Amino acid sequence: MLKLYNTLTRKKEEFVPLKKGTVKMYSCGPTVYNYAHIGNMRAYIFMDTLRKVLKYNGYKVKHVMNITDVGHLVSDADEGEDKMAKTARIENRSVYEIAKEYTDAFMKDIKALNIDTPEHIAKATEHIREMEIYVNDIVKNGYAYETSKGVYFDTSKLPNYGKMLSNNNIDDLKAGARVEVDTEKRNPQDFALWIKAPKEHIMKWNSKWGLCYPGWHIECSAMSRKYLGDKFDIHTGGVDHIPIHHENEIAQSIGATGHNLANYWMHVEFLLIDGGKMSKSLGNVYTLNDLKAKGIDALSYRYFTYSSHYRNKLNFTWDAIKSAKNSLNKLRDMIALHKGVNKKIDKNIISKYEEQFLDAINDDMNMPLALSVVWEAVKYPEKSPKIAQLLKKFDTVLGIKIDEVQETKIPQEILDLVEERKQARSDKNWSESDRLRDLIAEKGYIVKDTKDGTEVLKK
Ligand code: AMP
Ligand code: ZN
Repeated sequence: MLKLYNTLTRKKEEFVPLKKGTVKMYSCGPTVYNYAHIGNMRAYIFMDTLRKVLKYNGYKVKHVMNITDVGHLVSDADEGEDKMAKTARIENRSVYEIAKEYTDAFMKDIKALNIDTPEHIAKATEHIREMEIYVNDIVKNGYAYETSKGVYFDTSKLPNYGKMLSNNNIDDLKAGARVEVDTEKRNPQDFALWIKAPKEHIMKWNSKWGLCYPGWHIECSAMSRKYLGDKFDIHTGGVDHIPIHHENEIAQSIGATGHNLANYWMHVEFLLIDGGKMSKSLGNVYTLNDLKAKGIDALSYRYFTYSSHYRNKLNFTWDAIKSAKNSLNKLRDMIALHKGVNKKIDKNIISKYEEQFLDAINDDMNMPLALSVVWEAVKYPEKSPKIAQLLKKFDTVLGIKIDEVQETKIPQEILDLVEERKQARSDKNWSESDRLRDLIAEKGYIVKDTKDGTEVLKK
């Protein structure tokens, strides 16, 4: 039985989908105004591992993730400049160029992390009409009103507003919703659904309320409705989304449809760096490229995230990530040992590990425990390809390419010959360069000259 922790009920619950055999799931995706950092990546690895756990349990998964390319304001209290517009202003580029660059970079990162592409990746700017209709539904039902600045959700219409997921004290929300007092708002914590665009604002669309752009929260409500319907199974995001973004998504769906949009709300805790917050001023906002520059590949980072349960904070240090990399390499080497030998192994051993692994992942995705089963299995003294096969099966959940053959190290002798050949080529000594190429080939390696330089590969 699969159990998942539901932020809505604050309990681990048995997972029961709306429709037998199928799971509809929505994940809040990136705002593409910057490169995603490894903290963000923890959230997307979590979402993907959940998806893989569901599939391992035999469910068909329909998964939607949004790309926020408009409407996410600098402050969570829905104030200030649009994050995209701010970057465009600072970098003196168009918002569309920025969205494209960071969306492409994000897609590259998730591929490197072996994150499956969700069935639908929905860009906010491509769903403006759906959002307008959603806002209109809320207005029609009497949960929103127009001011000179936009259309606002009337939070006083929901007695539980701010407490549906987070147990927020409404007084705290009121205190938080300040900065500039907007006298047109009925309640200080009312939030913008639809924003009337100032003249200089570039991203704006003609609508019932004039030239406007959407609020961040309405994007997720409208896009999830389009692909998953008014009610779906699982909604995921980071813990920072609980008090505002997800409270507001629920408020909007009650306003438009009369009920909460999702049955299970799941949230992943934050990644810390050296025990503290990641911040620009500390210079520790690392991306996957920063890790790569230090010889750490994306899958080692994925492996590293399993060292802590997703509902606990995870502390990143350079020592910890290096040790994760070594462990993953060692694991792969040990699996290779199981492949070569064909000893008989008791069926019960395999099924015992299989059961333990399933119990771990089905207990609210206990990945640290699942990894300990992996290690126990790989250390089994009798070597057998059955163990290798079993671990490959586990990897459909782990996603760490567990049996990937490591790139063979090129021996120093070969590297020296390649260097000599490079010299011969720059001296235009072609016969010497050909002789060295043949010598390298005799020793089992191929040299290739590409426009990016010389490559050496094992034959
Ligand atoms: P954003 O692009 O800022 O909306 O964030 C994208 C995702 O990353 C959200 O689900 C956040 O909750 C999550 N996130 C942001 N910072 C961290 C962090 N340090 N650790 C884990 N998740 C994070
Ligand atoms: Zn969202």
